[in-house]
Amino acid sequence: PVYLDHNATTAPAPEAVEAMLQALRQDWANPSSMHAPGQAARQRLGAARAALARVIGCQPAELVFTSGATESNHAAVLGALSRGRALGRTRLLLSAVEHPGLLGLAERLRAQGTPVDLLPVDARGVVDVDAAARLIGPDVALLSVMAANNETGVCMPLQALSVLARAHGVPFHVDATQALGKCTLRFDASGADLWSVSAHKLHGPKGVGALVIRKGLDWPPLIGGRQERHRRGGTENAPGIAGFAAAATRVAATLEADLPRIQGLRDRLAQRLRQRVPALVVFGEGAPRLPNTLGLRFGTLDAERVLHALEREGIVASSGAACAAGGTEPSAVLLAMGCTPHEARAGIRFSLGRDTTDTDIARTLAAVERAIVPLLAELAAAA
Ligand code: PLP
Repeated sequence: PVYLDHNATTAPAPEAVEAMLQALRQDWANPSSMHAPGQAARQRLGAARAALARVIGCQPAELVFTSGATESNHAAVLGALSRGRALGRTRLLLSAVEHPGLLGLAERLRAQGTPVDLLPVDARGVVDVDAAARLIGPDVALLSVMAANNETGVCMPLQALSVLARAHGVPFHVDATQALGKCTLRFDASGADLWSVSAHKLHGPKGVGALVIRKGLDWPPLIGGRQERHRRGGTENAPGIAGFAAAATRVAATLEADLPRIQGLRDRLAQRLRQRVPALVVFGEGAPRLPNTLGLRFGTLDAERVLHALEREGIVASSGAACAAGGTEPSAVLLAMGCTPHEARAGIRFSLGRDTTDTDIARTLAAVERAIVPLLAELAAAA
């Protein structure tokens, strides 16, 4: 099929697979062992850490490897609450459009008594900095706002938020999972204190990611144990980390050439769809957006119907809505942007990647013509 779901995950790069196989076949010893095979594994780990730090824009010692961005996000929030206890900082401030894993954690913490404030977004999906300025205070343990939203691709005003956080002595966590490899944003230029990333969004393996912790920031261990300078225990996922580094290095090498090409394809898709479907609404228009992401709705045509119709035509995409017992749950991101539940249930996401071709876009447009335009006509006739 034509794969337009790169924000969900990406195909592992051959470089990543090769690096993983080498780590598995040759340097499989425990990197903590003192013998020569252990030291060889340790050296490979160090090389991967250095390579990733270059791509992310941090120091190697600031990188803590995790099992993925979900764990990194948890470590940021739970670490902030643990650190904040002694400082009288007990409240969480995060955007209303964070990843479901993070919002779910905040919800559970709230139910257990942690004060949580959600920052609203405007109609384009951009976090409201004025609201952040009103809500931040000396009792805040963490400000957490993603770099770019997974459903709309909308990029958040990190500079303004980091200035605000710094002025109030609040650690600033950025979930950069969707930004790494899809734009030129780097940790060192962002003003963030903490930074979550995940390998599988940029052609690396699943189940490995990192939390960048700014040098000098006192942070509790994520998981007990000696590894990762006592910050995240457990024998390192050396093959995963090697794959992550190889994938990131490959992405960084061609990013400048890939991004304009991907954006060109994304914009052509949007423009042609708009010509054909007057009821088309593109999410996040007018806001800075990732070049690969096209969040939209075909009028109020239900996302589930659209996705099934497209898949029958060989096109795979996704929606922010979650299928739940008794029907589709509307996307929380789109609701936060002011969509009605009916509109939010119609949200579709096309996310392109470096392997997306002109032909893929042409096939997608043809599929919409064959499968979606008739559905829209049906809907209009029924109304
Ligand atoms: N944060 C964002 C913004 C995401 O898009 C994702 C992807 O699913 C995650 C976090 C979770 O990443 P992982 O699958 O590595 O846990």
